[in-house]
Amino acid sequence: MIAVHSFSQGEVDLVSAAEEQQSGVFVVDSGRGEILDRDGTSLTGAKDWRLIVFPLSDKQWVAHRKKLEQVARLVGYEFEAFRDQVQAMTRPQTLSDRKGKEKTLTEEQARSIQRLAIPGIYALESDDRHNEGRPARQLLGRVEHQPFLARSRYPEEGAGEPSGAPLRIGVTGLEAAFDPLLRGGEHNLLTYATDGRGRPLNGLHMKAEAGVDRIPYRIQTTLDRKLQQQVEKVLDEAGVVEGAVVVQEITTGDILAMASRPRPGEAGKKENPWDNRALLEMTPGSIFKTVTALAALDTGKVKPGETFHCNGHLGRYGMKDAKPGGHGKQTLAEAYANSCNVVFAQVAERVGGENLQGYARRLGLGQRILWSGKVFKEEQFRQLPGEQTGVIFSAATAKNDRGAVAQTGIGQRDVKMTPLQAANMVTTLFQEGKTLNPRVVREIRRPDGEPYFRFPPHALKTEEKIGDAALQTVRQMMRQAVTQGTAQSLKGASVRLGAKTGTAQRGPDQDTYNKWMIGYGSYEQPRYSVAIVIRSVRKADDMRAHQVFRQVMEGLVKKPNS
Ligand SMILES: [Zn+2]
Repeated sequence: MIAVHSFSQGEVDLVSAAEEQQSGVFVVDSGRGEILDRDGTSLTGAKDWRLIVFPLSDKQWVAHRKKLEQVARLVGYEFEAFRDQVQAMTRPQTLSDRKGKEKTLTEEQARSIQRLAIPGIYALESDDRHNEGRPARQLLGRVEHQPFLARSRYPEEGAGEPSGAPLRIGVTGLEAAFDPLLRGGEHNLLTYATDGRGRPLNGLHMKAEAGVDRIPYRIQTTLDRKLQQQVEKVLDEAGVVEGAVVVQEITTGDILAMASRPRPGEAGKKENPWDNRALLEMTPGSIFKTVTALAALDTGKVKPGETFHCNGHLGRYGMKDAKPGGHGKQTLAEAYANSCNVVFAQVAERVGGENLQGYARRLGLGQRILWSGKVFKEEQFRQLPGEQTGVIFSAATAKNDRGAVAQTGIGQRDVKMTPLQAANMVTTLFQEGKTLNPRVVREIRRPDGEPYFRFPPHALKTEEKIGDAALQTVRQMMRQAVTQGTAQSLKGASVRLGAKTGTAQRGPDQDTYNKWMIGYGSYEQPRYSVAIVIRSVRKADDMRAHQVFRQVMEGLVKKPNS
Protein backbone atom coordinates (compact mmCIF):
# COMPACT_ATOMS: atom_id res chain seq x y z
CA MET A 1 0.00 0.00 0.00
CA ILE A 2 1.23 3.47 -0.79
CA ALA A 3 1.48 6.16 1.82
CA VAL A 4 -0.17 9.38 0.78
CA HIS A 5 1.35 12.64 1.93
CA SER A 6 0.43 16.21 1.39
CA PHE A 7 2.86 19.07 1.48
CA SER A 8 2.68 22.71 2.35
CA GLN A 9 3.73 25.22 -0.24
CA GLY A 10 6.28 26.65 2.15
CA GLU A 11 8.57 23.68 1.70
CA VAL A 12 8.77 24.25 -1.98
CA ASP A 13 10.14 27.74 -1.89
CA LEU A 14 13.12 26.67 0.21
CA VAL A 15 14.67 24.65 -2.53
CA SER A 16 16.45 25.60 -5.68
CA ALA A 17 14.81 26.80 -8.86
CA ALA A 18 13.78 24.55 -11.68
CA GLU A 19 16.36 22.68 -13.66
CA GLU A 20 14.57 23.67 -16.84
CA GLN A 21 15.58 27.28 -16.30
CA GLN A 22 19.20 26.40 -15.75
CA SER A 23 20.41 23.77 -18.11
CA GLY A 24 18.07 22.90 -20.91
CA VAL A 25 15.85 19.88 -20.46
CA PHE A 26 12.67 19.22 -22.38
CA VAL A 27 10.50 16.63 -20.66
CA VAL A 28 9.09 14.57 -23.49
CA ASP A 29 7.31 12.09 -21.29
CA SER A 30 7.01 12.60 -17.55
CA GLY A 31 6.17 8.96 -16.86
CA ARG A 32 3.55 10.24 -14.40
CA GLY A 33 -0.04 9.11 -14.02
CA GLU A 34 -2.85 10.86 -15.81
CA ILE A 35 -5.09 13.43 -14.17
CA LEU A 36 -8.61 13.10 -15.58
CA ASP A 37 -11.71 15.24 -15.60
CA ARG A 38 -15.08 14.02 -14.26
CA ASP A 39 -15.88 12.18 -17.50
CA GLY A 40 -12.48 10.52 -17.77
CA THR A 41 -11.07 12.98 -20.31
CA SER A 42 -7.39 13.60 -19.72
CA LEU A 43 -6.40 16.95 -18.19
CA THR A 44 -2.74 16.03 -18.39
CA GLY A 45 -0.61 13.10 -19.30
CA ALA A 46 -2.47 11.96 -22.42
CA LYS A 47 0.06 10.21 -24.64
CA ASP A 48 0.25 11.16 -28.26
CA TRP A 49 2.70 11.78 -31.08
CA ARG A 50 3.87 15.37 -31.14
CA LEU A 51 6.42 17.41 -33.06
CA ILE A 52 8.98 18.91 -30.71
CA VAL A 53 10.91 21.69 -32.37
CA PHE A 54 14.05 23.45 -31.17
CA PRO A 55 14.84 26.98 -32.37
CA LEU A 56 16.88 26.59 -35.56
CA SER A 57 19.77 28.76 -36.69
CA ASP A 58 19.85 30.45 -40.12
CA LYS A 59 22.53 27.94 -41.13
CA GLN A 60 20.22 25.04 -40.26
CA TRP A 61 17.38 26.55 -42.29
CA VAL A 62 19.70 26.62 -45.30
CA ALA A 63 21.33 23.22 -44.75
CA HIS A 64 18.07 21.32 -44.21
CA ARG A 65 15.74 23.39 -46.40
CA LYS A 66 14.48 20.45 -48.52
CA LYS A 67 13.84 18.23 -45.53
CA LEU A 68 12.14 21.03 -43.59
CA GLU A 69 9.83 21.57 -46.54
CA GLN A 70 8.97 17.88 -46.34
CA VAL A 71 8.20 18.20 -42.61
CA ALA A 72 5.90 21.14 -43.28
CA ARG A 73 4.11 19.16 -45.98
CA LEU A 74 3.83 16.09 -43.74
CA VAL A 75 2.12 18.07 -40.97
CA GLY A 76 -0.10 19.94 -43.42
CA TYR A 77 1.53 23.36 -43.22
CA GLU A 78 2.56 25.85 -45.88
CA PHE A 79 6.33 26.07 -45.56
CA GLU A 80 6.22 29.81 -44.79
CA ALA A 81 3.70 29.32 -41.99
CA PHE A 82 5.78 26.51 -40.52
CA ARG A 83 8.94 28.63 -40.70
CA ASP A 84 7.22 31.65 -39.11
CA GLN A 85 6.08 29.58 -36.16
CA VAL A 86 9.46 27.94 -35.59
CA GLN A 87 11.37 31.19 -36.02
CA ALA A 88 9.25 32.82 -33.32
CA MET A 89 10.40 30.18 -30.80
CA THR A 90 13.06 31.03 -28.23
CA ARG A 91 13.06 27.60 -26.58
CA PRO A 92 12.01 24.07 -27.49
CA GLN A 93 8.26 23.78 -27.94
CA THR A 94 5.71 21.51 -29.51
CA LEU A 95 4.23 22.53 -32.82
CA SER A 96 0.78 24.02 -32.52
CA ASP A 97 -2.06 24.41 -34.98
CA ARG A 98 -3.40 27.74 -36.20
CA LYS A 99 -5.53 28.21 -33.09
CA GLY A 100 -2.49 27.80 -30.85
CA LYS A 101 -3.54 24.32 -29.71
CA GLU A 102 -0.98 21.53 -29.66
CA LYS A 103 -0.89 19.59 -32.88
CA THR A 104 -0.81 15.83 -32.58
CA LEU A 105 0.52 13.56 -35.31
CA THR A 106 -0.40 10.13 -36.53
CA GLU A 107 2.20 7.47 -35.91
CA GLU A 108 2.78 7.30 -39.67
CA GLN A 109 3.48 11.05 -39.87
CA ALA A 110 5.82 10.74 -36.90
CA ARG A 111 7.77 7.86 -38.39
CA SER A 112 8.20 9.71 -41.71
CA ILE A 113 9.57 12.76 -39.89
CA GLN A 114 11.88 10.58 -37.81
CA ARG A 115 13.34 9.10 -41.01
CA LEU A 116 14.35 12.59 -42.16
CA ALA A 117 16.65 12.79 -39.11
CA ILE A 118 16.84 16.59 -38.87
CA PRO A 119 18.72 17.82 -35.79
CA GLY A 120 16.32 19.87 -33.66
CA ILE A 121 13.13 18.34 -35.11
CA TYR A 122 11.72 15.42 -33.14
CA ALA A 123 8.52 13.51 -33.72
CA LEU A 124 8.06 11.67 -30.45
CA GLU A 125 5.43 10.01 -28.36
CA SER A 126 4.92 12.22 -25.34
CA ASP A 127 2.51 13.15 -22.61
CA ASP A 128 1.39 16.78 -22.52
CA ARG A 129 2.56 17.97 -19.11
CA HIS A 130 4.87 20.39 -20.93
CA ASN A 131 1.91 22.00 -22.72
CA GLU A 132 1.53 25.59 -21.55
CA GLY A 133 -1.93 25.83 -23.07
CA ARG A 134 -3.39 23.20 -20.74
CA PRO A 135 -6.40 24.29 -18.68
CA ALA A 136 -6.43 24.58 -14.85
CA ARG A 137 -2.68 24.82 -14.61
CA GLN A 138 -2.48 26.17 -11.05
CA LEU A 139 -4.99 23.63 -9.79
CA LEU A 140 -3.14 20.74 -11.45
CA GLY A 141 0.20 22.13 -10.33
CA ARG A 142 3.73 21.81 -11.56
CA VAL A 143 6.38 19.12 -11.61
CA GLU A 144 10.00 20.05 -11.16
CA HIS A 145 13.47 18.79 -10.65
CA GLN A 146 13.81 19.14 -6.88
CA PRO A 147 16.35 16.59 -5.62
CA PHE A 148 16.56 18.13 -2.15
CA LEU A 149 12.80 18.13 -1.65
CA ALA A 150 12.47 14.70 -3.27
CA ARG A 151 14.95 13.17 -0.83
CA SER A 152 13.28 14.73 2.18
CA ARG A 153 9.89 13.53 1.00
CA TYR A 154 10.98 10.02 0.09
CA PRO A 155 13.86 9.20 2.43
CA GLU A 156 13.13 5.48 2.04
CA GLU A 157 14.33 5.74 -1.53
CA GLY A 158 17.81 6.35 -0.17
CA ALA A 159 20.52 7.83 -2.32
CA GLY A 160 18.60 7.07 -5.52
CA GLU A 161 19.87 8.69 -8.65
CA PRO A 162 22.77 6.34 -9.34
CA SER A 163 23.32 8.03 -12.68
CA GLY A 164 22.86 11.50 -11.29
CA ALA A 165 19.44 11.43 -12.91
CA PRO A 166 17.10 14.18 -11.78
CA LEU A 167 14.31 13.45 -9.34
CA ARG A 168 11.16 15.11 -10.56
CA ILE A 169 8.29 15.59 -8.18
CA GLY A 170 5.04 17.51 -7.99
CA VAL A 171 5.63 20.74 -6.10
CA THR A 172 2.25 22.52 -6.27
CA GLY A 173 -1.44 21.69 -6.75
CA LEU A 174 -2.71 18.17 -7.34
CA GLU A 175 0.71 17.13 -8.64
CA ALA A 176 2.06 17.80 -5.13
CA ALA A 177 -0.85 16.44 -3.08
CA PHE A 178 -1.01 13.19 -5.07
CA ASP A 179 2.68 12.95 -5.94
CA PRO A 180 3.26 9.57 -4.24
CA LEU A 181 0.56 8.05 -6.47
CA LEU A 182 1.27 9.90 -9.70
CA ARG A 183 4.98 9.16 -9.76
CA GLY A 184 5.76 6.33 -12.07
CA GLY A 185 8.34 4.60 -14.13
CA GLU A 186 10.57 5.71 -16.92
CA HIS A 187 10.57 9.30 -18.09
CA ASN A 188 12.05 10.58 -21.30
CA LEU A 189 14.00 13.80 -21.54
CA LEU A 190 15.72 15.73 -24.27
CA THR A 191 18.78 17.42 -22.84
CA TYR A 192 20.73 20.10 -24.63
CA ALA A 193 23.39 22.71 -24.12
CA THR A 194 22.51 26.38 -24.47
CA ASP A 195 24.45 29.38 -25.72
CA GLY A 196 24.90 32.58 -23.71
CA ARG A 197 21.40 33.75 -24.59
CA GLY A 198 19.81 30.48 -23.56
CA ARG A 199 19.26 29.23 -27.10
CA PRO A 200 19.81 25.52 -27.62
CA LEU A 201 22.99 24.49 -29.40
CA ASN A 202 23.50 21.45 -31.53
CA GLY A 203 24.41 18.17 -29.93
CA LEU A 204 21.01 17.24 -28.65
CA HIS A 205 20.45 13.86 -27.27
CA MET A 206 17.55 11.88 -26.02
CA LYS A 207 17.83 10.41 -22.60
CA ALA A 208 15.53 7.90 -20.95
CA GLU A 209 15.74 7.67 -17.19
CA ALA A 210 14.26 5.19 -14.82
CA GLY A 211 11.94 6.74 -12.27
CA VAL A 212 10.31 5.00 -9.34
CA ASP A 213 9.91 1.32 -10.04
CA ARG A 214 6.15 1.05 -10.46
CA ILE A 215 3.24 1.96 -12.66
CA PRO A 216 1.59 5.24 -11.71
CA TYR A 217 -1.97 5.59 -10.45
CA ARG A 218 -4.53 7.90 -12.02
CA ILE A 219 -6.49 10.70 -10.38
CA GLN A 220 -10.04 11.49 -11.41
CA THR A 221 -11.00 15.05 -10.58
CA THR A 222 -14.46 16.63 -10.35
CA LEU A 223 -13.60 19.17 -13.07
CA ASP A 224 -15.42 19.44 -16.38
CA ARG A 225 -12.67 19.99 -18.95
CA LYS A 226 -14.88 21.79 -21.47
CA LEU A 227 -16.34 24.06 -18.84
CA GLN A 228 -12.89 24.80 -17.43
CA GLN A 229 -11.65 25.81 -20.89
CA GLN A 230 -14.71 27.94 -21.43
CA VAL A 231 -14.29 29.74 -18.09
CA GLU A 232 -10.64 30.49 -18.88
CA LYS A 233 -11.59 31.79 -22.30
CA VAL A 234 -14.15 34.14 -20.77
CA LEU A 235 -11.56 35.43 -18.29
CA ASP A 236 -9.01 36.03 -21.03
CA GLU A 237 -11.50 37.69 -23.35
CA ALA A 238 -12.42 40.07 -20.52
CA GLY A 239 -8.73 40.94 -20.21
CA VAL A 240 -8.47 39.74 -16.60
CA VAL A 241 -4.81 39.74 -15.60
CA GLU A 242 -5.37 38.87 -11.95
CA GLY A 243 -8.32 37.01 -10.50
CA ALA A 244 -10.15 33.75 -10.04
CA VAL A 245 -13.35 31.93 -10.92
CA VAL A 246 -14.90 29.00 -9.07
CA VAL A 247 -17.86 27.01 -10.42
CA GLN A 248 -19.48 24.56 -8.02
CA GLU A 249 -22.23 22.01 -8.48
CA ILE A 250 -24.89 22.80 -5.89
CA THR A 251 -26.23 19.28 -5.26
CA THR A 252 -22.83 17.67 -4.56
CA GLY A 253 -20.58 20.63 -3.71
CA ASP A 254 -18.10 19.33 -6.29
CA ILE A 255 -15.88 21.84 -8.08
CA LEU A 256 -16.58 21.89 -11.82
CA ALA A 257 -14.12 24.62 -12.76
CA MET A 258 -11.45 26.59 -10.91
CA ALA A 259 -9.45 29.15 -12.84
CA SER A 260 -6.70 31.50 -11.71
CA ARG A 261 -4.88 34.39 -13.33
CA PRO A 262 -2.13 35.41 -14.00
CA ARG A 263 -1.06 32.41 -16.00
CA PRO A 264 2.35 30.95 -15.33
CA GLY A 265 4.69 32.90 -17.59
CA GLU A 266 2.56 36.05 -17.47
CA ALA A 267 3.01 37.08 -13.86
CA GLY A 268 4.77 40.20 -12.66
CA LYS A 269 7.88 40.00 -10.52
CA LYS A 270 6.12 40.19 -7.17
CA GLU A 271 3.52 37.57 -8.00
CA ASN A 272 3.76 33.83 -7.89
CA PRO A 273 1.87 32.62 -10.98
CA TRP A 274 1.55 29.14 -9.49
CA ASP A 275 -0.49 30.50 -6.58
CA ASN A 276 -4.05 29.33 -7.11
CA ARG A 277 -5.94 32.54 -6.46
CA ALA A 278 -9.19 30.63 -5.91
CA LEU A 279 -7.62 29.43 -2.63
CA LEU A 280 -6.14 32.74 -1.49
CA GLU A 281 -7.90 34.91 1.08
CA MET A 282 -8.79 38.50 0.25
CA THR A 283 -11.12 41.24 1.45
CA PRO A 284 -14.66 40.38 0.34
CA GLY A 285 -16.44 43.72 0.74
CA SER A 286 -20.20 43.57 0.27
CA ILE A 287 -20.55 39.88 -0.62
CA PHE A 288 -20.07 39.39 3.16
CA LYS A 289 -23.46 41.11 3.68
CA THR A 290 -24.81 37.65 2.86
CA VAL A 291 -23.46 36.45 6.23
CA THR A 292 -24.79 39.49 8.07
CA ALA A 293 -28.25 39.05 6.54
CA LEU A 294 -28.40 35.35 7.44
CA ALA A 295 -27.28 36.04 11.01
CA ALA A 296 -29.84 38.83 11.39
CA LEU A 297 -32.74 36.74 10.05
CA ASP A 298 -31.87 33.43 11.68
CA THR A 299 -31.36 34.95 15.14
CA GLY A 300 -34.65 36.81 14.71
CA LYS A 301 -32.91 40.13 15.44
CA VAL A 302 -34.32 41.49 12.18
CA LYS A 303 -37.73 40.60 10.79
CA PRO A 304 -37.91 40.30 7.00
CA GLY A 305 -40.40 43.14 6.71
CA GLU A 306 -38.65 45.58 9.05
CA THR A 307 -37.59 48.88 7.48
CA PHE A 308 -34.40 50.89 8.00
CA HIS A 309 -33.33 54.35 7.00
CA CYS A 310 -30.19 55.40 5.15
CA ASN A 311 -29.30 59.08 4.81
CA GLY A 312 -25.85 58.44 3.34
CA HIS A 313 -23.80 58.16 6.52
CA LEU A 314 -23.98 56.12 9.68
CA GLY A 315 -23.07 59.01 11.98
CA ARG A 316 -20.30 57.07 13.71
CA TYR A 317 -16.94 55.46 12.89
CA GLY A 318 -16.81 57.76 9.84
CA MET A 319 -18.83 55.23 7.89
CA LYS A 320 -20.36 56.50 4.68
CA ASP A 321 -22.55 54.96 2.04
CA ALA A 322 -21.58 54.35 -1.57
CA LYS A 323 -24.61 56.42 -2.56
CA PRO A 324 -24.26 60.12 -1.66
CA GLY A 325 -27.40 61.30 0.12
CA GLY A 326 -28.34 57.72 0.96
CA HIS A 327 -30.89 55.13 -0.10
CA GLY A 328 -33.74 56.38 2.12
CA LYS A 329 -36.25 53.94 3.58
CA GLN A 330 -35.49 50.27 2.81
CA THR A 331 -36.33 46.76 3.96
CA LEU A 332 -33.42 44.42 4.72
CA ALA A 333 -33.91 42.83 1.29
CA GLU A 334 -33.83 46.22 -0.42
CA ALA A 335 -30.73 47.22 1.54
CA TYR A 336 -29.05 43.96 0.44
CA ALA A 337 -30.05 44.51 -3.19
CA ASN A 338 -28.78 48.13 -3.03
CA SER A 339 -25.70 46.99 -1.06
CA CYS A 340 -26.39 49.70 1.53
CA ASN A 341 -23.52 50.07 3.99
CA VAL A 342 -25.43 52.24 6.46
CA VAL A 343 -28.23 49.71 6.99
CA PHE A 344 -25.88 46.73 7.13
CA ALA A 345 -23.64 48.46 9.67
CA GLN A 346 -26.74 49.01 11.87
CA VAL A 347 -27.82 45.42 11.38
CA ALA A 348 -24.34 44.15 12.25
CA GLU A 349 -24.31 46.20 15.46
CA ARG A 350 -27.63 44.67 16.45
CA VAL A 351 -26.50 41.12 15.56
CA GLY A 352 -23.20 41.50 17.44
CA GLY A 353 -19.67 40.28 16.79
CA GLU A 354 -20.09 36.82 18.32
CA ASN A 355 -23.07 36.05 16.11
CA LEU A 356 -21.35 37.37 12.98
CA GLN A 357 -18.37 35.16 13.67
CA GLY A 358 -20.55 32.15 14.53
CA TYR A 359 -22.65 32.38 11.35
CA ALA A 360 -19.59 33.00 9.22
CA ARG A 361 -18.04 29.80 10.56
CA ARG A 362 -21.23 27.83 9.98
CA LEU A 363 -21.05 29.02 6.37
CA GLY A 364 -17.54 27.61 6.07
CA LEU A 365 -15.58 30.86 6.46
CA GLY A 366 -12.51 31.35 8.66
CA GLN A 367 -11.31 27.77 8.06
CA ARG A 368 -10.12 25.49 5.30
CA ILE A 369 -13.11 23.91 3.60
CA LEU A 370 -11.75 21.75 0.79
CA TRP A 371 -12.18 18.03 1.31
CA SER A 372 -9.80 16.65 3.91
CA GLY A 373 -9.87 13.47 5.91
CA LYS A 374 -8.57 9.98 6.35
CA VAL A 375 -6.97 8.36 3.31
CA PHE A 376 -5.37 5.06 4.25
CA LYS A 377 -2.82 5.85 6.96
CA GLU A 378 -2.94 9.61 6.47
CA GLU A 379 -5.39 11.07 9.01
CA GLN A 380 -5.67 14.58 7.56
CA PHE A 381 -5.07 14.23 3.86
CA ARG A 382 -5.80 17.43 1.91
CA GLN A 383 -6.76 17.27 -1.74
CA LEU A 384 -4.89 20.51 -2.48
CA PRO A 385 -2.03 22.31 -0.74
CA GLY A 386 -2.05 26.06 -0.28
CA GLU A 387 -5.65 26.68 0.79
CA GLN A 388 -5.90 29.69 3.09
CA THR A 389 -8.39 29.90 5.97
CA GLY A 390 -9.65 33.45 5.67
CA VAL A 391 -10.43 35.62 8.72
CA ILE A 392 -13.54 37.07 10.39
CA PHE A 393 -12.05 38.95 13.35
CA SER A 394 -8.30 38.91 13.80
CA ALA A 395 -7.00 38.03 17.26
CA ALA A 396 -6.22 41.70 17.96
CA THR A 397 -9.79 42.89 17.37
CA ALA A 398 -12.36 42.73 20.17
CA LYS A 399 -15.64 41.24 18.98
CA ASN A 400 -17.53 43.71 21.17
CA ASP A 401 -15.86 46.75 19.59
CA ARG A 402 -18.93 48.26 17.94
CA GLY A 403 -16.97 50.06 15.24
CA ALA A 404 -15.16 46.87 14.31
CA VAL A 405 -18.46 44.98 14.26
CA ALA A 406 -20.08 47.57 11.99
CA GLN A 407 -17.16 47.35 9.54
CA THR A 408 -17.09 43.56 9.71
CA GLY A 409 -20.79 43.43 8.84
CA ILE A 410 -20.04 45.04 5.47
CA GLY A 411 -17.05 42.80 4.78
CA GLN A 412 -14.31 45.27 5.68
CA ARG A 413 -11.90 45.54 8.64
CA ASP A 414 -10.19 42.14 9.15
CA VAL A 415 -12.56 40.07 7.01
CA LYS A 416 -10.98 37.89 4.36
CA MET A 417 -12.32 34.99 2.37
CA THR A 418 -11.25 32.87 -0.57
CA PRO A 419 -13.16 32.65 -3.88
CA LEU A 420 -13.68 28.96 -3.08
CA GLN A 421 -15.32 29.87 0.26
CA ALA A 422 -17.44 32.49 -1.52
CA ALA A 423 -18.84 29.95 -4.01
CA ASN A 424 -19.36 27.39 -1.26
CA MET A 425 -21.23 29.97 0.85
CA VAL A 426 -23.74 30.34 -2.01
CA THR A 427 -24.06 26.55 -2.28
CA THR A 428 -24.77 26.43 1.46
CA LEU A 429 -27.90 28.54 0.90
CA PHE A 430 -29.38 25.45 -0.80
CA GLN A 431 -28.22 22.75 1.63
CA GLU A 432 -30.82 23.07 4.41
CA GLY A 433 -28.21 24.15 6.93
CA LYS A 434 -25.50 21.71 5.88
CA THR A 435 -22.10 23.07 4.78
CA LEU A 436 -20.31 20.80 2.32
CA ASN A 437 -16.57 20.32 2.00
CA PRO A 438 -16.06 20.70 -1.74
CA ARG A 439 -14.14 18.00 -3.57
CA VAL A 440 -11.76 18.59 -6.47
CA VAL A 441 -10.86 14.92 -6.71
CA ARG A 442 -13.44 12.18 -6.86
CA GLU A 443 -11.30 9.05 -6.88
CA ILE A 444 -7.90 7.47 -7.21
CA ARG A 445 -7.69 4.73 -9.82
CA ARG A 446 -5.30 1.83 -10.18
CA PRO A 447 -3.10 1.67 -13.27
CA ASP A 448 -5.64 -0.77 -14.78
CA GLY A 449 -8.38 1.83 -14.32
CA GLU A 450 -10.13 0.10 -11.42
CA PRO A 451 -11.14 2.34 -8.49
CA TYR A 452 -8.60 2.34 -5.67
CA PHE A 453 -10.01 4.98 -3.33
CA ARG A 454 -13.23 7.00 -3.56
CA PHE A 455 -13.45 10.28 -1.68
CA PRO A 456 -16.80 10.20 0.13
CA PRO A 457 -18.78 13.45 0.39
CA HIS A 458 -17.94 15.35 3.58
CA ALA A 459 -19.79 18.12 5.38
CA LEU A 460 -18.64 20.52 8.05
CA LYS A 461 -19.43 19.48 11.59
CA THR A 462 -21.53 22.30 12.96
CA GLU A 463 -23.30 22.44 16.30
CA GLU A 464 -26.27 24.39 15.06
CA LYS A 465 -27.89 24.57 11.68
CA ILE A 466 -29.09 27.71 9.97
CA GLY A 467 -32.87 27.60 9.61
CA ASP A 468 -34.38 27.14 6.19
CA ALA A 469 -36.55 30.27 6.40
CA ALA A 470 -33.46 32.50 6.65
CA LEU A 471 -31.67 30.62 3.87
CA GLN A 472 -34.70 30.95 1.59
CA THR A 473 -35.04 34.67 2.30
CA VAL A 474 -31.40 35.30 1.43
CA ARG A 475 -31.70 33.31 -1.81
CA GLN A 476 -34.59 35.59 -2.68
CA MET A 477 -32.56 38.67 -1.73
CA MET A 478 -29.93 37.61 -4.28
CA ARG A 479 -32.65 37.47 -6.90
CA GLN A 480 -33.79 40.96 -5.89
CA ALA A 481 -30.21 42.27 -6.33
CA VAL A 482 -30.56 41.22 -9.97
CA THR A 483 -34.09 42.50 -10.58
CA GLN A 484 -33.79 45.79 -8.66
CA GLY A 485 -30.30 46.18 -7.22
CA THR A 486 -26.60 46.45 -7.92
CA ALA A 487 -26.56 43.30 -10.10
CA GLN A 488 -29.15 44.63 -12.59
CA SER A 489 -26.69 44.19 -15.46
CA LEU A 490 -27.65 40.49 -15.26
CA LYS A 491 -31.32 41.23 -15.95
CA GLY A 492 -30.85 40.73 -19.68
CA ALA A 493 -29.04 37.39 -19.32
CA SER A 494 -30.47 34.40 -21.17
CA VAL A 495 -30.95 32.68 -17.81
CA ARG A 496 -32.54 34.08 -14.63
CA LEU A 497 -29.90 34.49 -11.92
CA GLY A 498 -29.41 35.45 -8.27
CA ALA A 499 -26.29 37.40 -7.38
CA LYS A 500 -24.44 39.76 -5.03
CA THR A 501 -21.74 42.26 -5.92
CA GLY A 502 -18.77 43.33 -3.83
CA THR A 503 -16.05 45.95 -4.11
CA ALA A 504 -13.09 46.10 -1.74
CA GLN A 505 -10.37 48.72 -1.81
CA ARG A 506 -6.85 47.42 -1.63
CA GLY A 507 -3.26 48.40 -2.04
CA PRO A 508 -1.13 50.63 0.20
CA ASP A 509 -2.89 53.74 -1.15
CA GLN A 510 -6.32 52.09 -1.34
CA ASP A 511 -6.24 52.95 -5.02
CA THR A 512 -7.11 49.57 -6.53
CA TYR A 513 -10.13 47.34 -6.02
CA ASN A 514 -11.14 43.72 -5.76
CA LYS A 515 -14.34 43.35 -7.75
CA TRP A 516 -16.48 40.38 -6.70
CA MET A 517 -19.61 38.72 -7.89
CA ILE A 518 -21.18 35.63 -6.37
CA GLY A 519 -24.46 33.95 -7.14
CA TYR A 520 -26.43 31.03 -8.49
CA GLY A 521 -28.28 29.90 -11.57
CA SER A 522 -30.74 29.31 -12.76
CA TYR A 523 -33.19 31.00 -10.42
CA GLU A 524 -35.86 28.41 -11.19
CA GLN A 525 -33.55 25.39 -11.06
CA PRO A 526 -30.44 26.32 -9.06
CA ARG A 527 -27.67 23.93 -10.10
CA TYR A 528 -24.51 26.04 -10.07
CA SER A 529 -22.84 28.45 -7.67
CA VAL A 530 -20.25 30.77 -9.12
CA ALA A 531 -17.77 33.14 -7.48
CA ILE A 532 -15.70 35.62 -9.46
CA VAL A 533 -13.05 38.00 -8.23
CA ILE A 534 -11.05 40.37 -10.38
CA ARG A 535 -8.15 41.89 -8.50
CA SER A 536 -6.10 45.07 -8.78
CA VAL A 537 -8.80 46.85 -10.77
CA ARG A 538 -8.17 50.59 -11.24
CA LYS A 539 -11.76 51.76 -11.55
CA ALA A 540 -14.36 51.19 -8.83
CA ASP A 541 -17.08 50.90 -11.48
CA ASP A 542 -15.30 48.23 -13.56
CA MET A 543 -18.07 45.94 -14.82
CA ARG A 544 -16.03 42.91 -15.93
CA ALA A 545 -16.98 40.80 -12.90
CA HIS A 546 -20.63 41.16 -14.04
CA GLN A 547 -19.66 40.29 -17.60
CA VAL A 548 -17.61 37.22 -16.62
CA PHE A 549 -20.30 36.01 -14.21
CA ARG A 550 -23.01 36.37 -16.83
CA GLN A 551 -21.03 34.63 -19.59
CA VAL A 552 -20.01 31.75 -17.31
CA MET A 553 -23.61 31.26 -16.15
CA GLU A 554 -25.03 31.49 -19.66
CA GLY A 555 -22.49 28.90 -20.81
CA LEU A 556 -23.38 26.58 -17.94
CA VAL A 557 -27.07 26.59 -18.57
CA LYS A 558 -26.55 26.14 -22.33
CA LYS A 559 -24.28 23.19 -21.67
CA PRO A 560 -25.71 20.02 -23.19
CA ASN A 561 -26.89 17.33 -20.73
CA SER A 562 -27.26 19.81 -17.90
ZN1 LIG B 1 -27.52 53.26 1.89
